[in-house]
Amino acid sequence: MRTQILIRNFNKVESDFNENNLQEILSMSRAEIISTVRIAHLQEHGLFSQRIVGDEWKNHFEFSKGSGVVSGFNNFDYNGALFNLLEKDSLSVLEGLAIAVYAVGDSKGSLYIPQAHESALDSLESAAHKLNELECLKKLGISISVAVGSIDVRSLKKEQVVHHIGTLASISALFRLKKDFVPTRIVLFDGDVKVPGIVEIPIGLTLQTLIDEFAGGVEESLKAVAISEKLVDASGTKMVVDESFSLGNGVITIYNNKRCMADKAKAILRLVFEASCGKCTFCREGTFQLYQIFMDISNGKGKPTDLGMVDELGKAMTTGSLCSTGQTASEFALGTLNNFRDELESHIRRKRCPAEVCTAFMNIYVSPELCNGCTSCKEVCDAKAIEGKEGYIHMIDEFECTKCGKCIPICEKGAILRTTGKVPPLPERLTRVGSFKKRR
Ligand code: SF4
Ligand code: SF4
Ligand code: SF4
Repeated sequence: MRTQILIRNFNKVESDFNENNLQEILSMSRAEIISTVRIAHLQEHGLFSQRIVGDEWKNHFEFSKGSGVVSGFNNFDYNGALFNLLEKDSLSVLEGLAIAVYAVGDSKGSLYIPQAHESALDSLESAAHKLNELECLKKLGISISVAVGSIDVRSLKKEQVVHHIGTLASISALFRLKKDFVPTRIVLFDGDVKVPGIVEIPIGLTLQTLIDEFAGGVEESLKAVAISEKLVDASGTKMVVDESFSLGNGVITIYNNKRCMADKAKAILRLVFEASCGKCTFCREGTFQLYQIFMDISNGKGKPTDLGMVDELGKAMTTGSLCSTGQTASEFALGTLNNFRDELESHIRRKRCPAEVCTAFMNIYVSPELCNGCTSCKEVCDAKAIEGKEGYIHMIDEFECTKCGKCIPICEKGAILRTTGKVPPLPERLTRVGSFKKRR
């Protein structure tokens, strides 16, 4: 059976939270709590994965006591995995927050949830209320609050302790499970894997082993992996996911060899552009410009200077964007440029999409040998690009055709073909079925 530390309460009617247990934890001295966390070598999850939780608490207690403990989701991080953890075991996450507040000698713990999940506010507030009503918290003057909003980690990290949702769940698990605790991470496998979904993974395995064992392996052969917003090529799967490995928002997206990375970057950039709040220029303007560049590349209108522009813009956005939304856009664009430059150059210089995904580089035509003149394709073409009548070989007007591909599955004879290469000789005018060869 797989280790269940963070998700141990997921399928239970009630969580294993219990007041006596928390009371017992909070009756320990701060030094004992910090020492327990240091001995377990607990490390922060997510963006600040290099930080040792015990050291951070100790420093905070000694140097910046009084500014509170904050947890939440950086703008673009509220994916299925993390929110799932918060919703399915809110008491553990909030308990972890209360322990952290106590350990650093503060009185206030704040949890922020994104606007998109506002509907969960009531149930999270009632879980926080349940904790705030406990004698052990009241006695220590500790209170936990939940609010809608995102945390700007850049402006907070100096004054306040910021914990990832997964770190809070791990703090609670460490004190509840004691010697049975082992560090784990919660992730969402997405994309071209055989078994996508949310899983809890152990520490110390390679990315490849995790994909094989926890996501059923890759559909077709692996081309790229995006760990949160960081994109790597297939060689990146040799990396070991240890405690200091940043899993960002915990989403691991697999791309197989049928995917075109210019097309994928275009799709991600559009998503981010739509999600951008527009507050900072780098994200607002930069994401739009990157999206335009990748759209041009995938539409066959890319210029050799575009790649330098992606590099310049991407780097400026990574440092200049205020939150993870802008950084997701820039990091994915830079990852595409750094790992798949050849593929981008092929689109720009050779007008060829190596994965045969970008329709701008494709020709769609009707095979005169296979068409039986049934007219079915003509009826589905919104662009009115198909010419023909019953009993005649149909023809596609390449200037009118939008390359949407809608007609392809309609043709039962498999006569509508797509190619990135040369189109064979075709009829130039309406020709009766069966007579094309005779006229050649
Ligand atoms: S505009 Fe700035 S603050 Fe707003 S989503 Fe983008 S990066 Fe975040
Ligand atoms: S291309 Fe296919 S669907 Fe269209 S007329 Fe010919 S056989 Fe029918
Ligand atoms: S690919 Fe789309 S636009 Fe082109 S002929 Fe088929 S249905 Fe019409």
